[in-house]
Amino acid sequence: MVAGVLVTGMLLAAMTTRGRLDPAMPVRHRLPTTVGPYTSTEILYCQSESCAHSFMRDPTTDVAACPECMAPLDTASLAEKQLLPADTEIDRRVYMVTPHQRITVSVVRGGYERRSIHKPQVCLVGQGHTITRQYRVPLALTASPDFELMAMEMDGSDQIFAYWFTDGHRVTASHLSRLLWIAWDGVIHNKRRRWAYISLTSTSTHTDATLSHMKRFIQDLHPLLISPARPASPPAKDNR
Ligand SMILES: [Zn+2]
Repeated sequence: MVAGVLVTGMLLAAMTTRGRLDPAMPVRHRLPTTVGPYTSTEILYCQSESCAHSFMRDPTTDVAACPECMAPLDTASLAEKQLLPADTEIDRRVYMVTPHQRITVSVVRGGYERRSIHKPQVCLVGQGHTITRQYRVPLALTASPDFELMAMEMDGSDQIFAYWFTDGHRVTASHLSRLLWIAWDGVIHNKRRRWAYISLTSTSTHTDATLSHMKRFIQDLHPLLISPARPASPPAKDNR
């Protein structure tokens, strides 16, 4: 009961928290080109509302505009950009080791507003997926010995989706924990930090095998995502 009141109070505080903006980045700006034995291609999105074409960039040729309609391209879809605050950055790549073993990775580097990052389950169901099972998967990483992934089997078990959140210091698989950390930083430290949401998805014919490929992949990816201690250039002013 008391804990419930405390949690509710913290969450309410998180909704209204202002606080000093911490310039530290939760993860590096760009996803790496290679991760262990995997090579990757960037996913690009046409910025024309009527076209909405998305495709994997051919690394051997230069694409400056949408091949379908010549509109500008971006690493985030137009819908995502319209939905999310302007200081949110999205990077997405498909990693491949064989044509059949592919992992799509998406990094949302949030801005200073909580709504930069949504609850993943809400977005996935909104995109028409069904979540068949959901569970935490422990995975010891050098930098985070207590690391856990949230794993979801979607659309039967044809697709595995896994994610976690980090502010560069803390790592959690729980969206509620992320909100509580934001409230804690605001109320106790008068500080607002950027958070990142890292998600992976892979089609699957065998859940255990796919999950073990993903775990191995994350062990290689995680150290490459860790942000340098300080940003290279002074942070942009945030007037909000
Ligand atoms: Zn287009």
